[in-house]
Amino acid sequence: MSDGRRANDDSLYEPDAIAVGILLFGATTCPVCGLALPECSDYFVPDRTHGRTFKAACRRCRRARQRARYSGGRQAHKLAQLREYYRERKARGTT
Ligand SMILES: [Zn+2]
Repeated sequence: MSDGRRANDDSLYEPDAIAVGILLFGATTCPVCGLALPECSDYFVPDRTHGRTFKAACRRCRRARQRARYSGGRQAHKLAQLREYYRERKARGTT
């Protein structure tokens, strides 16, 4: 177990866990990933400023969006450059 936090978070999104949660709390659909998820704070962050109990995007979508904002842009660019570099090397036949 090198990353217990991630394993725990992913287990929330196992079909069995979602089904049980929906039975307990009722279902609400995340508009970002389109999953029907239990309407509880395990999946949606409480937010009363918009007159709704929960924010629209589910926890996993919010996390993904935050991660993309902080590191995704640059890494994606670097990755594209690396891919181009290796494709060029391969095309030239050098190893
Ligand atoms: Zn979602």
